[in-house]
Amino acid sequence: MLDSYGRNIDYIRISVTDRCNFQCLYCSHRLDVLPREQVLRFEDILNIVKAAKDLGFKKVRLTGGEPLLRRHIEQLVAMLQPVGLSIHMTTNGYFLHELSKPLFDAGLNGVNVSLDFVDAEKFRNITNGGRVEDVIAGIDSALDAGLKVKLNTVFTSWHTTDDMKQLIMFSKSRSIPIRFIELMPKNESSFSALFRNISEAKEMMGAFTKMTVEQVSGSDGPAQYFVTEDGVKVGFISFFNLNQCKQCNRLRVSSNGTIYPCLLSNKKLDAFDDIKAGTDKTKEVLSEAILMKPIHGNANEVGPYMSEIGG
Ligand code: SF4
Repeated sequence: MLDSYGRNIDYIRISVTDRCNFQCLYCSHRLDVLPREQVLRFEDILNIVKAAKDLGFKKVRLTGGEPLLRRHIEQLVAMLQPVGLSIHMTTNGYFLHELSKPLFDAGLNGVNVSLDFVDAEKFRNITNGGRVEDVIAGIDSALDAGLKVKLNTVFTSWHTTDDMKQLIMFSKSRSIPIRFIELMPKNESSFSALFRNISEAKEMMGAFTKMTVEQVSGSDGPAQYFVTEDGVKVGFISFFNLNQCKQCNRLRVSSNGTIYPCLLSNKKLDAFDDIKAGTDKTKEVLSEAILMKPIHGNANEVGPYMSEIGG
């Protein structure tokens, strides 16, 4: 469906839980999680995906919190698969070693896995206790299962050229793309200490590899892509760029049924009851949210918390 500015909105991101097993320093994860009765059920999420399909959406991404914490998540994927949208997930990868195969069998197409560092100590520190070996085992099992995998690295002031090199070498060893993402100013306390302009990531990479610009399709999202001299596809995503707003094609739904038309806007729609009322009512609120999308985000507006919508 076209929004008020002629953009085709065909990608919906749905958070299936606000819980997470990591406590990344840059994420505004809330410790008081939503009570179960305020979280969308699988049937409700199916309503959203069916309504989205009717409105011409092509792709759904399940996010969190950490979506793999949602019990029987593979059953949700199996329920969504017949609707016909391409199904993806963003995860911290911790539970992938046990869930990749059932998720693939249920119809999941691909996963974006967060991997901020290959260095075990830095990874443990940024995630507040996570073990990078577990995430790497998860990535490998996703690849073995047949899932498409991309890596997401939140670029911070902690990254050295060596860290960047290790991440690129890891991507090369698994033949998977990696995207460096500029930190979003959503968590006031840690933001200023960790923030670093994404242009510095490109400069640091220039110290050890040449990169050529890659032309990409619209479905590749807001990243600007390059290819390193040994063939690794690398994306850079800035926090706020008016050009990416021109191509914005997405809506976000939190696990309690709030629809966010834009990541950087105060506009939102509490659609919990409408979603529960069925596909027709859900179609109405999705359409309303699409028409509420601003022409571009406003860096001064609050928008949803990362732990509500998973980026
Ligand atoms: S800031 Fe808003 S309009 Fe711009 S790309 Fe992000 S979600 Fe879309």
